[in-house]
Amino acid sequence: MSNVELKNVYKTYDSDIVAVNDFNLKIEDKEFIVFVGPSGCGKSTTLRMIAGLEEISKGEIYIDEDLVNDVPSKERDIAMVFQNYALYPHMSVYENMAFGLKLRKTDKKETDRKVKEVAKILDIQHLLKRKPKALSGGQKQRVAIGRAIVRNPKVFLMDEPLSNLDAKLRVQMRTEIIKLFRKLETTFIYVTHDQVEAMTMGTRIVVMDNGIIKQVDTPEKIYDSPANIFVASFIGSPQMNLLDATIESIDDELYVAFDENKIKLPKEKAKILKDNSYIGKEVTIGIRPEHINEDRKLKDKDCMIKSKVEVIEHLGAESYIYTVCGKKSINVRVLETTKCKIGQIAHFYIEVKKLHIFDKETGNRIV
Ligand code: ADP
Repeated sequence: MSNVELKNVYKTYDSDIVAVNDFNLKIEDKEFIVFVGPSGCGKSTTLRMIAGLEEISKGEIYIDEDLVNDVPSKERDIAMVFQNYALYPHMSVYENMAFGLKLRKTDKKETDRKVKEVAKILDIQHLLKRKPKALSGGQKQRVAIGRAIVRNPKVFLMDEPLSNLDAKLRVQMRTEIIKLFRKLETTFIYVTHDQVEAMTMGTRIVVMDNGIIKQVDTPEKIYDSPANIFVASFIGSPQMNLLDATIESIDDELYVAFDENKIKLPKEKAKILKDNSYIGKEVTIGIRPEHINEDRKLKDKDCMIKSKVEVIEHLGAESYIYTVCGKKSINVRVLETTKCKIGQIAHFYIEVKKLHIFDKETGNRIV
């Protein structure tokens, strides 16, 4: 069992930079938690506080119900994998992997068995005699992960472990880390600024901005029901379209209106808006590019918008259509190639069930 809990944790640098602001999170045993957010939002600082590499300014951190605020890093039974691998250059791969066990005075036979077992899992048996300088970036990363695994820690902490690898290797290592997580059945806490890594790896994602948690949930929930405009725009690629609109009531039906367009809202969304007195008010609407279609068989005027096609990108399996509606950009993502032409005023159809509506002032999700 390895739970980690952070209660009202703060980190202030130089008495005025609040890097982490009232962080509260309970991480259950065997979760793969990903901290994601733009650079400087406090992800690494939070991870380093859990590791004991950074003092906390206020609050409490527990590992397995034990308060660890004053427990030194090496006694926390955690292992950390860094972006720059942090291997000892003068030691061989074998010695690097065995180092932590040697410090713990593990017997030689047991150390040898563990190192070889882990080397096999990571497919680096043939590299054991090499020095780090004779390894590729991907191989170094495997050794760094191997060095963390041999110790059998309660919790794995990983700080942007893939960001020094090229795109292809990054995708490959991503899959390997997921497999490793399934195999080891340990708690993983993983920091990345890459929302694709977060979505594909995490069992739960913590989206952070400016030292504050903006949402904690499963990847599906974060994508389907972003809690606020920040999460809506940060998660998803291409980014969600966000537009100012007004809620209008016509003949007992509710519409979102922007420029010349009026989109009829489904009953359940309309009810929530009505109950919360949004009729006549300005809101921000969000629709993901993949939830706008150019399907001409769909003749439903209630979900149609007219928008001018400016740029088309053909990516093979899909196309991105960049359009302008009034003064607003609306991006559309379609599978296959589009029939649209550049310069044309085209009709697009919005999947109204997938429409998100946010309060314009607070930025929080209404429905
Ligand atoms: P992230 O990992 O999300 O990129 P960090 O946790 O590294 O962000 O940093 C969060 C904030 O704290 C940033 O504004 C950063 O400049 C600041 N910060 C980090 N380390 C220090 C430090 N040692 N001294 C002063 N400010 C720091």
